[in-house]
Amino acid sequence: MINDSCKSCFITEASPGIIIDATGQCNVCRYYRSEKGKSEIQKALSIDCLEELKKIAEEIKTSAKKKGCKYDCILGASGGFDSTYVIYVAKKILGLNSLVVKYDNGVCHRLSNENLTKTCDLLGLEVRIIPVIENERKYLLNSTKALMNIGVFFSACFSCHYTIASVVYREAKKEGICYTMTSTNQVEQDFAKASHGLMAKSLIKGFFSCHPVNMLKFVYYETKAIYSFTKLKFSFDKLSLRFLRNLFRLHPVKPSFIKKINISEYVAWDWKKIEGILRSELGWQTPRYTKVPYLRFDCHYAAMIDQSFKKLTGLTEHAMLLNWFAQAGFVNKSEIEEDIKYMNDENRVEKEIGIVMKEFGLEDIKAEEQ
Ligand SMILES: [Zn+2]
Repeated sequence: MINDSCKSCFITEASPGIIIDATGQCNVCRYYRSEKGKSEIQKALSIDCLEELKKIAEEIKTSAKKKGCKYDCILGASGGFDSTYVIYVAKKILGLNSLVVKYDNGVCHRLSNENLTKTCDLLGLEVRIIPVIENERKYLLNSTKALMNIGVFFSACFSCHYTIASVVYREAKKEGICYTMTSTNQVEQDFAKASHGLMAKSLIKGFFSCHPVNMLKFVYYETKAIYSFTKLKFSFDKLSLRFLRNLFRLHPVKPSFIKKINISEYVAWDWKKIEGILRSELGWQTPRYTKVPYLRFDCHYAAMIDQSFKKLTGLTEHAMLLNWFAQAGFVNKSEIEEDIKYMNDENRVEKEIGIVMKEFGLEDIKAEEQ
């Protein structure tokens, strides 16, 4: 039955690639309960190469000193779970003086900016929050207007993702910083694998199944959006080889002067421990206190993506991210039932979409449609 959820998690067969077997369990839960799945989780939780990372940190410090650079490294951060932990590790464990950079697209969650400034204050780090960039907003606005005709909002975040990386590279160049640190986590990796195909397919399906007038409107606004995206890329690199290299890319190429260190290759993604540190030592906050980490709360636009996912699979993106912890066997389904309800709640999603629509001046268009 397509609407029955897995006995161990909240997913149904409406999600692509999900097969619920005769025992009532989905293939993802089954995988994480197999020897292979269990060892994958165990491996991620037992990474311990901190000494190696400390050696790299010493090299970073020496390199910055030699160059007479004020900062050891640069960190792009949002104030969410993972980026806040990277700031913590870089300073408290590795002793690096980092410059922290954030791009605020104008619809960031208040708490994410507060988390970031609070963390940097406590750790004595400089933070630069870059306000809305005109062409980035134009892309996001026109892309939103285009996607309203299709009914799913995937692909609207491209310009923001491009800008986040670009401002880090730009500030690094300005300050002569040669190192950056990032992290990855299993939840995001698994989610990307499971959702990219679905997002692309639903955009194509949405386009070919909408009314011809909506098709034309989509093409009109999408063309405007792409024009702004190109201008945005130009504003970072001017007419250069780099601009041409980035012309058809969704993420800018990393400049050769900067080295990227992924801390997840050295430090375990022990989410319970990480959340404990963030909350107790840095006063890190989320819109709701959830049993497992509340990922991706940092941008209200995520609610547009939530709505699109819910339409397609019955679960919002935020619900799916929480659901991963049940799939991976960290919590029982019942333990996160209330959190899933909150993440899947229409009122929460509508409220956050309302904030975006107000900021974009799109409330009238939205009302017209309904
Ligand atoms: Zn399941």
